[in-house]
Amino acid sequence: MLDYLVRNACLTGENTLVDLAVADRKIVEIAQSIAGDAPSFDAAGQLISCGFVESHIHLDKACILDRAKNETGTLQGAISAVANAKSGFTEDDIYARGARVIEKAITEGTNAVRTHVEIDPGIGLAGFNAIKRLKADYAWAMDIEICVFPQEGLFNYPGTEELLRAALDNGADLLGGCPYMDTDPHGQILRLFEMARDYDVDLDFHLDFDLDASWRHLDEVAKQSIAFGWQGRVMIGHVTKLSVLPKPELEDTIAIMRDAGIGLTVLPATDLFLTGRDHDHSVPCGVAPAHKLAAHGVCCTIATNNVLNPFTPYGDCSLSRMANLYANVSQLATEAELENCFAMVSDAPAKLLGRSNKIAVGEAASFIVLPAQSRAQVVSEISLPIWGMKDGRVTFEHPAAKLFRP
Ligand SMILES: [Zn+2]
Repeated sequence: MLDYLVRNACLTGENTLVDLAVADRKIVEIAQSIAGDAPSFDAAGQLISCGFVESHIHLDKACILDRAKNETGTLQGAISAVANAKSGFTEDDIYARGARVIEKAITEGTNAVRTHVEIDPGIGLAGFNAIKRLKADYAWAMDIEICVFPQEGLFNYPGTEELLRAALDNGADLLGGCPYMDTDPHGQILRLFEMARDYDVDLDFHLDFDLDASWRHLDEVAKQSIAFGWQGRVMIGHVTKLSVLPKPELEDTIAIMRDAGIGLTVLPATDLFLTGRDHDHSVPCGVAPAHKLAAHGVCCTIATNNVLNPFTPYGDCSLSRMANLYANVSQLATEAELENCFAMVSDAPAKLLGRSNKIAVGEAASFIVLPAQSRAQVVSEISLPIWGMKDGRVTFEHPAAKLFRP
């Protein structure tokens, strides 16, 4: 007995259209013209793909432009605006704003996210508890991985470590860091590695947020990744300093990251918005060249980071738009380059979150249909998904625009 059929889908790498049969939450057959009268969706020759995976998003501080303004447009302006607004956050308020973002992301074809949640004595575990509720309530459409981190510093904010440990004891999936906010950045990096070892969890750092190549924390993270044997379990986000490195220095850095098994997440919307505010012309973009690192085998992802807040006053939660934004800023245009951008919002973050991204018999029936014939086209045209399913259940429909001709 089949539960569902997707008809006439275009599968990457296949020349002919296929039907996919779904039963017991899994793909049970992929073939041309599968017989059956189960409920169905006609993909009409359009691309079927695993859902997008959002590897870095802040649900707890999303959608707060009504109460937090970044007066200077700088990183410092964003940090202080959010820190002030945070004193008014409640669990229900965080839940409601997070739900708004998750629902938008679902309709944009995302079915898994890693969300960074701020933990400190000011907010306590309110953000963590709200995100845990969201994780349970939206499991039908979205898998949520919770990364707790000390946005306002660890050593300079006593009580933060105890709360991070409480969150890890109560279901947080991994640990984040923000060494540039700490009075003792190397101390924070070391302590987070020790805690990661205690809890056997991965690490995901907000690393640097400036264009000064004369100093950085990347080397310390690489050193500790090797010392702790945490290769393949550490991501660094932003790393805007990478955007100013000349080729030889960039190649040296890529080798350091590859040897230490460190991956990179670029957050183009935020990096473009905050970087270079001290320039009144020839504003640098601050977007790390992830495609160059990916070409050397470094795990690289593109992600949304913030939605409608002082760090990024935009946001539609669309990862096809984010991949396009990255491609545009990085001046990428060939079929292969655009396909790689698609991979940075699908294959690479899926692997990072320990998910399969295969469409094959026996895999979970979790996929989306995109109005395109190739992955490159999704990026060049910012194709928005028209339909999606998770674990055998239809989760959204977003019909394509229709013309009413005279
Ligand atoms: Zn972030």
